[in-house]
Formats: sequence, structure tokens, C-alpha cells
Amino acid sequence: MQMKPIGVLALQGDFFEHIRLLTEHDVPAIEVRSRGDLAKCSALIIPGGESTTMAHLMQTAGLEGGIKKRVAEGMPFYGTCAGAILAAKKVIGEKRYRPLGLIDICVERNAYGRQADSFEAALEVKGEGKMNGVFIRSPVIKKAGKKVEVLSSLSGKPVLVRSGNVLCGTFHPETESQFLCHKLLLKMASK
Ligand code: GLN
Repeated sequence: MQMKPIGVLALQGDFFEHIRLLTEHDVPAIEVRSRGDLAKCSALIIPGGESTTMAHLMQTAGLEGGIKKRVAEGMPFYGTCAGAILAAKKVIGEKRYRPLGLIDICVERNAYGRQADSFEAALEVKGEGKMNGVFIRSPVIKKAGKKVEVLSSLSGKPVLVRSGNVLCGTFHPETESQFLCHKLLLKMASK
């Protein structure tokens, strides 16, 4: 039997690159824009983009409650960059919206600087090996709760974290076709 597709929130940001990457690895993937789309998914990715815009569009689409409920029920989730910001418990100084609170982390947006300060870095992911991470106006995870496992760090700061069925990274893997984080998500989905 073919697995249910991985959903990629497709309201704004880098969703197409995630769909392309999954499809290239023969993983069925769909764009998620509605509650009906969400119901078809076995896991969800929130891609990088602009977190405030995505938060607004997610509210308009009535998706927040459904995402929180599915993740609480155990649906595997992967948030990258803006996706990690939206998944956090707290976003420092953010008053315009409330993040989804899927994982016990506190993040600071744009903490590495502006677009021109974007960079790439070789990362070591615990138990999985090496990968290349692209940091584009990335957030920094300032605090992580006791139950949050740090899978990769850069200059002493966590950049890939996991708690139960929720995986969050502050970098983009999809721009460089790095599949390691998606593989982790698939492992979580196959459990
Ligand atoms: N700076 C963006 C934000 O705050 C995130 C950037 C990204 O996803 N690459 O939403």
C-alpha cells in the first residue's frame, strides 16, 4: 500500500522546493492550503519563508487548530526556518500573532542578521551524519526545554532539534537538495 502523502504548507515561502525534493525521492507529497488537504497527510512540513505572513495566511485559512490537533495526536512535523518560528512555544518580541507552540523552544527571528548575512555551514547531525545547511535570515533557538533533543548545533547554538514527533531546524535543506532532515521526518512517519 502506498503511504499517505507528506503535506507541505503551501501558503507562502519555499514549499515548491520541498515538494520537488520529496518527489525526486519517490515520496508522495502534496501542497496543503486547506483543512481538507491537511486531512490527507501523514506528516506536515512548514517551509521557510516569512513567518508573519504565513501566520496571517494560516489563520485566514483556518488551519491553526487543525495543525495543533493533528500534531498533538502524533502526526510527524518538520518546521524549517520560518516553519520553526511558527512551531515554537515563544517568539521573542512577537505581538502580532501567537506561534503554534508545537515544541518547547524560544526563538529570536533574524538573529544572524539581514539577508546579506546569509551563509552556508557544514553540519553534523547526531546519529545521521553530515549535511550542508543554508541559513537565510534564520532565527536562533535561544532556549530549548528539557525534553527537547539537540540533533545539531552551530557555534554552540542548537540548529536542529526534536521533541517527540516534532522536528525543527533553523536552516534550509531544500535549496541544496539535502534530504537528511526529510529522511528523519520519514522515519518518524513510519513509526
Ligand atoms: N526571517 C524569516 C522570518 O522571520 C525567516 C527566514 C526563512 O524562513 N528563511 O520569518
